Amino acid sequence: MKFPEFINICEVGPRDGLQNEATILSVEDKVELIERAVDAGYKTIEIGSLVHPKAIPSLADTEEVFKRLKLHEDIEYRALVTNLRGVQRAVNAGVQKVKLTVSASESHNLSNFNRSTMETIDQFKACISFASENNIEVSAAISTAFGCPFEGSISIERIESVIEKLIELGVNEISLSDTTGMANPRDVYEKCNYMIIHYPEIKWNLHFHNTRDMGLANVLAAMNAGIVNFDAAFSGIGGCPYAPGATGNLCSEDLVHMCENMGIKTGVDIDKAIQLAKRVREMIGHSTESYMLRAGKSSDLIKEKPVRQINE
Ligand code: ZN
Repeated sequence: MKFPEFINICEVGPRDGLQNEATILSVEDKVELIERAVDAGYKTIEIGSLVHPKAIPSLADTEEVFKRLKLHEDIEYRALVTNLRGVQRAVNAGVQKVKLTVSASESHNLSNFNRSTMETIDQFKACISFASENNIEVSAAISTAFGCPFEGSISIERIESVIEKLIELGVNEISLSDTTGMANPRDVYEKCNYMIIHYPEIKWNLHFHNTRDMGLANVLAAMNAGIVNFDAAFSGIGGCPYAPGATGNLCSEDLVHMCENMGIKTGVDIDKAIQLAKRVREMIGHSTESYMLRAGKSSDLIKEKPVRQINE
């Protein structure tokens, strides 16, 4: 197997993690979580969504959160948007990067945005030109790339038709998202391998949900194909409110722990990542799917050998 020396983890907890929580956190709490994530060493952070407040009420205060952050030059703060209005809001708030999202599955896209996949991408044209006029970077995410709860498996050809359109519009960073945790390592390896060979100019990112406990296995498969950018959420919280049965994101601290044990650098301090996950759990008020919170680091088990007392 091929392993990278370094991976970059985008902490998507403030967006994908909190969007599905029953408890709506205050602006202060969100700011605290994002600043703790920065302190732990995450260099890319998805701070929220700039979508209609009624669509995701828990993230309606994203601009306020961003305004209150102590910004660091080496951190990429990005927000999810779905239309031109979202990009305009990003410009007004000073957010430097937006992520446009579209679903590879027609049915999921209809349920999410009330329009077809290609109609959604057509709308991106205005978003991208407005963003570039205002020096905002754009990336794109393709949801349900590894399966859709309405349509089942999604072919490479279908994903490719979306990618080709995005490239035509000038997008050069694309995330493939396993929105409902339907991916398996073989499918991930084959799709990532194909994408890297056919679209080497694209910066690829993978976004897994750990719905069926295959998140880390899928990361390994993607790494083996040459992927080095991954999304994950603190404490393993999250899920798409528009996908039936969707559950938590791949857990950030579990990913950091696995990489650390494998000698793959992430730039993240595992102890701070675990403390952050604990703080998240406290704020949302329920247990989460984090193995680190359940079992601790494997190195915690290694204790010094007891010294044998020999009494002569
Ligand atoms: Zn997600």
